Amino acid sequence: MSCCQEVWSDMGNCIYCGQPAGFLRNKHPESARKHDAAWAEILGQAKESAMSGTDLEVVQRRSTEVAAKS
Ligand SMILES: [Zn+2]
Repeated sequence: MSCCQEVWSDMGNCIYCGQPAGFLRNKHPESARKHDAAWAEILGQAKESAMSGTDLEVVQRRSTEVAAKS
């Protein structure tokens, strides 16, 4: 989590990772990017399963894995 190495005091925390985000900021650009990428991946998998007929439980498990590593 290189985006979260910087330590600021009395600053807002990142809404994605909970680490201090910096002066007048509430998120790290990198954290927001990762969050968006994770959601895009989840949505893509959901769409894929809808088309291929993959069990929804499989998609939900994958979604949890994606969320965990983001
Ligand atoms: Zn962050």
